[in-house]
Amino acid sequence: MKGLNPVFIPGPTNIPEALRHAMAAPTIDHRGPAFAEMLPSLLADLRIVFGTKAAGIVTFPSSGSGGWEAALANTLSPGDRVLAARHGMFSHKWIDMCRRFGLDVEVIDAPWGEAAPAAEMAARLEADKARKIKAVLVTHNETATGVTSDVGAVRAALDASAHPALLLVDGVSSIASIPFRMDEWGVDVAVTGSQKGLMLATGLAIVAVSEKAQGAMAEAKLPRWFFDFRDMLKAGATGSYPYTPPTQLFAGLRLSTTMLLEEGLENVYARHRRIADGVRAAIAAWGMPLCAARPEIASDTVSAVMTPPGFDANRLTAHAFSAYDVSFGVGLGDVAGKLFRIGHLGAMTDVMALSGLAAAEMAMVDLGLKIELGSGVAAAQALYRKASATPAERKAA
Ligand SMILES: *Cc1c(COP(=O)(O)O)cnc(C)c1O
Repeated sequence: MKGLNPVFIPGPTNIPEALRHAMAAPTIDHRGPAFAEMLPSLLADLRIVFGTKAAGIVTFPSSGSGGWEAALANTLSPGDRVLAARHGMFSHKWIDMCRRFGLDVEVIDAPWGEAAPAAEMAARLEADKARKIKAVLVTHNETATGVTSDVGAVRAALDASAHPALLLVDGVSSIASIPFRMDEWGVDVAVTGSQKGLMLATGLAIVAVSEKAQGAMAEAKLPRWFFDFRDMLKAGATGSYPYTPPTQLFAGLRLSTTMLLEEGLENVYARHRRIADGVRAAIAAWGMPLCAARPEIASDTVSAVMTPPGFDANRLTAHAFSAYDVSFGVGLGDVAGKLFRIGHLGAMTDVMALSGLAAAEMAMVDLGLKIELGSGVAAAQALYRKASATPAERKAA
């Protein structure tokens, strides 16, 4: 039966039944009381999801990329220097956007599979005695390579030289799935989208803006209208919107945020860690390396699996889809054809993950890769059995 299997792409993610229903909402008057009453409580709950008490939350009808654009346009002026690490397709694209906006980008290249190099960033910031760097850009979770960077270490790099640059963070494939601590890390603008950890349809960029970034907003000279934080913050304060909000997506976001907070964010993070550990155990059992250069930077939301040299990884994703109706992520940019990605974020359970691993095994064996059917599944099962049991159950076993 077509279309019943979960997807294992790292966004858009699977949408739980309850959220699909919530988004099938009838039209409401977005200038009426229902929207105005809903918005403040939603923004308050989103603050919790971002790990912030004081930041302003703005939303735009857009995919996550619009959140990138809003982050730049509201805090910077043409010709401003920004420091950015490039170590995968998403950090690469954000840098490309900076250049098209006429910003002067100082790029630190790291191998794809490495994290944002905080020590190198610290050295560049220390060397910037004239304080020309106005913002530092970090992609918290490089979805293209399955690597999570240490945003706290980048904060420490800024603090070490008392550098005043803003810290702009792409949290599109991390927020609401793995720990994101905006206030603790001193993040000034944090960006996410509705279709990843928030488990919704694509269509909302959700951005948290620190008080410091709101200060920079008044000075920023890059043009913006649709993505203007000022209009959106002002409207949000009164439960309104500067133009027509996608009210069905808001109905979904209202419920998905409630679901995350009811599960408990720390439990959500622990679930993503456990599922990722099982997926990684499977990949190790297959004898295939991760793109992530070191275990401690491997992402809990997406695993990028390097296929053997000479094997076109795109054949695997194509075959898994045509033979088993299961979607995995393809390699992007420099790693196209060299890896496939297993997305395991958002609405995901141990059992769903096992089904994805089983499908990947069948597809790999079909195409002649030297792995044993069931080897990865068994490794993940062993981990999930142990990790899911309560302490008493573990003792009894
Ligand atoms: C998905 C994603 C984006 C945004 O992509 P959109 O397609 O515009 O939603 C940005 N950064 C990362 C790390 C992502 O995973």
